[in-house]
Amino acid sequence: MSRRSLRVAATGLSLLALLGLAYLLGRSDSMTAEARAASPVEALAERDVYYPGSEDLGPDEMRIVALGTGMPSARPKQAAACFLVELGNGDKFLFDIGSGCHERLAAQKIPYDFLDKVFFGHLHVDHMGDLPTFWLGGTTMNRLTPLRVWGPSGGTPELGTQHAMELMKQMYAWDIGTRSGVIDFRGGELEVHEFPFDGVNEVIFDENDVVIRSIPAVHGLDGAVSFILEWNGLTFVYGSDTLPNKWYIEHAKGADIAIHECFLPPTLLVTKQGFDPLEALNVGTQGHTSPEQFGKVMSLVEPRLAIGYHFFNDFDTEPDVRSRVRKTYDGPLALAMDYMVFNVTRDDIRVRMSAIDEEVWPSPPLKAKLPPDTANAIPFSEFTKSGALGFPEVVGPIYDEINEIYGTDYEPVFKE
Ligand SMILES: [Zn+2]
Ligand SMILES: [Zn+2]
Repeated sequence: MSRRSLRVAATGLSLLALLGLAYLLGRSDSMTAEARAASPVEALAERDVYYPGSEDLGPDEMRIVALGTGMPSARPKQAAACFLVELGNGDKFLFDIGSGCHERLAAQKIPYDFLDKVFFGHLHVDHMGDLPTFWLGGTTMNRLTPLRVWGPSGGTPELGTQHAMELMKQMYAWDIGTRSGVIDFRGGELEVHEFPFDGVNEVIFDENDVVIRSIPAVHGLDGAVSFILEWNGLTFVYGSDTLPNKWYIEHAKGADIAIHECFLPPTLLVTKQGFDPLEALNVGTQGHTSPEQFGKVMSLVEPRLAIGYHFFNDFDTEPDVRSRVRKTYDGPLALAMDYMVFNVTRDDIRVRMSAIDEEVWPSPPLKAKLPPDTANAIPFSEFTKSGALGFPEVVGPIYDEINEIYGTDYEPVFKE
């Protein structure tokens, strides 16, 4: 290296040092904050992951958690349709409760007494399949509040929500029979609100400054609807399943959040799911909404954020679906996956994924439990009782242990 080139290098170094010093002096406050954030002993100030149960919800904030974004075909990665909406006033709403979503809901660590309102867009199993586990299983999750359900009428009374719920109660007579006379069964009560499927922007819920309206959807049979929730100047629209339709475009217009199905394109229904081409076209564009149709809907609705769901969202399908949506829509877009979380205020929409604690347990009951209504107890027959083995030498000490801890004098039912 010549003298001249050394000098140039030295000058360059000193210039760099001076620039670096000026940068550090000018940025000393923020650098300190950054250094603190990177400390091995202090919590990060900002987390880009949502940990259920770890964040306050602001008084003007809406939080939406995607708990089921998949299809009727079961898979570990995605449950069927379910979205949880939490509001800063404390209210919580479930929109659809499709097969497989219940464990994702349990992972939110929300006491079940707060989870007492479910709205069905229609009665396909991928939109209501987990209702029984949530309703009756909810009694084992310490829910002591009746479950309230809203759903549309059908083209005939037999195709409506009321009828479906009555038959569901009959179907689970045995399950109810094991519980209703043995535990505080208030959480097993079901309150059904059926509303006309053809109401256009009719109010179906109006409590606590939250208004929910329904609009007709075009899907399957008469008896499918979409929902519009309004609270505190924020509008959330949930399509459930529907073809593009005039009601959605008119009444979802300008919503803060607009959720609409965005089905797999017919090409993927053929190659990934074994449909024949005509079947794929019929299902993918005439029974459901293809990505291109979804984009067209959103280009007319112009929401602050468009959310597409109802497809298997994988590394090899998402780019295809996204590029098809982009043929017809260039606005804000999220293609939902299970556990995607949306924090919405009037100024901001934040989209993150959740980190889930798989070892979740039921939250403790929020109310004092009442004694069971023993009038509802259904006894065993003498036949079944004659088969029970009490094993008093084994069970007696278990009772003794509890009686000693709690100062009780309980005795086993089966003594011999
Ligand atoms: Zn459906
Ligand atoms: Zn569906």
